[in-house]
Amino acid sequence: MAGVNARTTRVVILGGGPGGYEAALVAAHLGGEVTIVDRDGLGGAAVLTDCVPSKALISTADYMSEFETAADLGVHLEDPEGDEVSDAVAELGEVNVRVKDLAAAQSRDITDRVEEVGVRIVRGTGRLVSATRVEVAVEGDDSGATETVDADVVLIATGATPRVMDTAQPDGERILTWQQIYELDALPERLVVVGSGVTGAELAQAYLGLGSEVVLVSSRDRVLPGEDPDAATVIEDVFTRRGMEVLGRSRMAGVERRGDGVVVRLEDGREVEGSHALLAVGSVPQTAGLGLEEVGVELSPSGHIAVDRVSRTSVRGVYAAGDCTGVLPLASVAAMQGRIAMSHALGDAVAPLRLGDVSANIFTDPEIATVGISQKALDEGTVDADVVMMPLSRNPRAKMMGITDGFVKLFAQKGSGAVIGGVVVAPRASELIFPVTLAVHHRLNVDQVASTFTVYPSLTGSIAEAARRLHTTAP
Ligand SMILES: Cc1cc2nc3c(=O)[nH]c(=O)nc-3n(C[C@H](O)[C@H](O)[C@H](O)COP(=O)(O)OP(=O)(O)OC[C@H]3O[C@@H](n4cnc5c(N)ncnc54)[C@H](O)[C@@H]3O)c2cc1C
Repeated sequence: MAGVNARTTRVVILGGGPGGYEAALVAAHLGGEVTIVDRDGLGGAAVLTDCVPSKALISTADYMSEFETAADLGVHLEDPEGDEVSDAVAELGEVNVRVKDLAAAQSRDITDRVEEVGVRIVRGTGRLVSATRVEVAVEGDDSGATETVDADVVLIATGATPRVMDTAQPDGERILTWQQIYELDALPERLVVVGSGVTGAELAQAYLGLGSEVVLVSSRDRVLPGEDPDAATVIEDVFTRRGMEVLGRSRMAGVERRGDGVVVRLEDGREVEGSHALLAVGSVPQTAGLGLEEVGVELSPSGHIAVDRVSRTSVRGVYAAGDCTGVLPLASVAAMQGRIAMSHALGDAVAPLRLGDVSANIFTDPEIATVGISQKALDEGTVDADVVMMPLSRNPRAKMMGITDGFVKLFAQKGSGAVIGGVVVAPRASELIFPVTLAVHHRLNVDQVASTFTVYPSLTGSIAEAARRLHTTAP
């Protein structure tokens, strides 16, 4: 659509998550006449049920875990009578009120921001009737009336939803998806988390930190399959050391209510009892019933929308962004895809999506942050790189802070020494990865990183130290 007069381009965006609302801001800035159709609230699942609430819950769990190391640093809690207090207690009802308030406030902030730039919001469920027309079943209109919105450009950003199996039906009380847990007003006594991917691992550890007994059912050999194996080993070790029961190579067959609790049945016939079960077995794209096939938008066998690196679908003028495309299920990537789509559609300068320097974080304790090439690529021989791993236990600041787990790993291209990837496993690794991301993004070599000052003492000192160890002298 490059070349269309941006002042008159009508843009309709289906879905108000990061893919949709970030696109709306760009489209409005570029002079488009923008409408967002959303049925759950701006911010989408990212803000209302997924990223924001889970990270807010984890913040409470992280706070609780500070108490575990407090005694090592010489801190003891006392009650007013002078008796030593051994346990901090999380009141889940209070925690969840805070979490939901925070999500709602974030959604309101986003709504205000998009309204400020003149975007029209239509609350309801939309579908394409053609590549240039969206029909909306408007929320709150029980008469079945619909509104039709004409468009020059359409962006589909409808996200994904938790995968549900026939044999494991969530009931919102004891058998829960990750979107339902914020309705609990008391901590589960014994929570069985099914699935040890990012969501399962993060939430299993959060509830363990909050005080639940936790069993993690993992179908694979180790937790966090697909992630850096050294990082996953550290995390599994921390999980078990803190008392989580990790059942590896255990595939769920189904879950049912029994008495006052739940039973998770495994395929090998074993049964795992708990008070509650949390299902974290993946997501499915929300692309059914949108009229996509009817207008010729190509879908993959998994139901994801096929897009190129500027977010174009197979139909001219129809773009897609975010989890509905299955490119990389991250809020940051959804937002970038949405922005790129609008820059392309409205004729602005556009840089195609580059996945090679996306930084991502797993909010376990310690966190795992990664960027660039992976250990897997190295092990499989698809890249040739030198690698150095520095345990944090030798870092002076880590010692002062009582940090015993974690490491910094850097990958450098053989020959050039360019930093092509890295892994940080540490508290707040999500913040510490940024210098490595800068190095990967700007093609800095290890000597450039090594010769940059770091604060003494600091955790980032280990990043510079890893770079120094990767220095090679000319042959
Ligand atoms: C538990 C969990 C934690 C996560 N934590 C992080 C994290 O820390 N960092 C990170 O980067 N990513 C995280 N993610 C991933 C992140 O949430 C997603 O990548 C992100 O939400 C994708 O954004 P989106 O815009 O594609 O869709 P969504 O955020 O899913 O928004 C889609 C919106 O579209 C609306 N919609 C759907 N169909 C229609 C329709 N027909 N009509 C109108 N509206 C419709 C929905 O109501 C929703 O509001 C997490 C995911 C999970 C499950």
